[in-house]
Amino acid sequence: MAVRRKKSQEKRIAQERIETLFEMAEKEAMKKNWTRANRYVDLARTIGMRYNVTPGSDLRRRFCRGCGTFLLPSATARIRVGGGKVVCTCLKCGRVTRYPHVRERRERRRGRERGSTGVRKTPEEAGVEDL
Ligand SMILES: [Zn+2]
Repeated sequence: MAVRRKKSQEKRIAQERIETLFEMAEKEAMKKNWTRANRYVDLARTIGMRYNVTPGSDLRRRFCRGCGTFLLPSATARIRVGGGKVVCTCLKCGRVTRYPHVRERRERRRGRERGSTGVRKTPEEAGVEDL
């Protein structure tokens, strides 16, 4: 009888493949092979959809949610930091993504671990977290 892989195992493998694909995409992007870089992003997203795996928050920021382009600062993306927020503009389709600055996120997470319940998020921030 065929041994079927457990769902959790499949997900873990899918996650690993997604990470590998993003690494490959980055290498191609560095070499300006945009077609290939975007193809890898595309594959990673397809795998994610099939196994219901979402790329980690770091990876989610590496591609444009609008057109799927691999975002490489200065080449395909413009990154601006201001007011504790990072503003990322896709230079291909112009989609703007905003997210809290990393340091700020860490501080907030630490606060949550301490058990503070008074933390309230603005709808904008909540939306960013859900990216
Ligand atoms: Zn775009």
